[in-house]
Amino acid sequence: MAVIAVVGANWGDEGKGKMVDFLARDSHFVVRFQGGSNAGHTVINDYGKFALHLLPSGVFYPGVTNVLGPGVALDIRAFAEELESLTQRNVPVPKIAISDRAQVLMPYHKQLDEYEEERLGARQFGSTKSGIAPFYSDKFAKIGLQVAELFDKDVLRARVSHALEIKNVLLEHLYRKPPLKVDDLVDELTAQAEIVRPYVTDTTKLFSEALKEGKTILLEGQLGSLRDPDHGIYPYSTSSSTVAGYAAVGAGLPPYAITEVLAVTKAYSSCVGAGPFVTELTGEAGEELRRRGGDAGEYGAKTGRPRRVGWFDAVATRYGCMVQGATALAITNLDVLGYLDTIPVCVAYDIDGHITKDFPPTPLVSKAKPVLKHMPGWKTDISSARSLSDLPKEAREYVEMIERETGVKVKWVSVGPRREQTIRI
Ligand code: GDP
Repeated sequence: MAVIAVVGANWGDEGKGKMVDFLARDSHFVVRFQGGSNAGHTVINDYGKFALHLLPSGVFYPGVTNVLGPGVALDIRAFAEELESLTQRNVPVPKIAISDRAQVLMPYHKQLDEYEEERLGARQFGSTKSGIAPFYSDKFAKIGLQVAELFDKDVLRARVSHALEIKNVLLEHLYRKPPLKVDDLVDELTAQAEIVRPYVTDTTKLFSEALKEGKTILLEGQLGSLRDPDHGIYPYSTSSSTVAGYAAVGAGLPPYAITEVLAVTKAYSSCVGAGPFVTELTGEAGEELRRRGGDAGEYGAKTGRPRRVGWFDAVATRYGCMVQGATALAITNLDVLGYLDTIPVCVAYDIDGHITKDFPPTPLVSKAKPVLKHMPGWKTDISSARSLSDLPKEAREYVEMIERETGVKVKWVSVGPRREQTIRI
């Protein structure tokens, strides 16, 4: 039995999708426990290349049950479209279970997300406009809708009427948009209920039984430590917790059930959206890293936006591993750095002349300048390496440097986006 949380140690886009797709082969369940269809987990396997937004990255194995836990923002239309897009590309119909306690992302959540970014103009956060911030605000303001409530007409109508009392004030008076009608929304949600009906179940009970039977469960995080609302670069954070501690809550498992926290870090840094990013590279050096990064350049898998890129940030990643409680590390995209003579790495921050290795709160991160050290490059293509001994000495030293700086044992090194391009350390 193993319960492994696969979570991001950076800003997201670390290659969690690739690692989950790889590890899912030996798992019974893969679970999304937070976030919604704003994810963009890239998976490349024998079926082709996919960007998974809401579905867990275990959907390519017919034997794996893919679970959307209570902590997820369930966009039912996006769910149906994504599922169909898989089967259209010859992926066998995956096993899926949706928690009856998950909440439904309403059509107005997406509208409000869009209108708010529009209202903020230059001050906007770079939201994917998937409705995530309005969804989680409503969940905690107790005007959200649980999946189970979709199946009781009276409850559904009462909940929708209650929510629209507030939403229509915002729509009409803050955003100057037409109000929504209760009947229209009830009709739409009644149709959505039928889409998910076959998958809805008590996933908490399912896991309780799975644990007794010694099953293996992967908990797939979305984004990374630095986008966590409590621990990340607030307010440039997402609206649900991205840390392994929350995985137990969002999936519906006891905290002590988690046997491994596998933090995923890129061998360099990348970040989508606004907020301080200490090692950011601009100009030609940035263009080159962006062009060479990931499987086809560093462009958002959800939005297609160019990602901001920079050198590996040991300060941010050590902190990212610490808040995850990482017990093991996966380093991805090591192959990308094979073009450099020397590889700069940020080992400390200089904040107004004060040198620190500790990652501070956002206002101080914004002032930080990177203190760089230079590692020798390996200047060769390592994408066909399959064991540590296949890696050049300089690449092994780079891996050791990350292990030393983070204080977390490296378990996997990824040297390409495909499943098989993975080295067990
Ligand atoms: P996720 O959201 O954490 O799953 O990460 P994304 O899929 O958004 O971004 C990771 C990018 O890196 C994608 O383009 C992946 O195909 C790519 N990728 C993952 N691992 C590797 C690797 O080891 N080498 C290379 N070159 N690309 C990788």
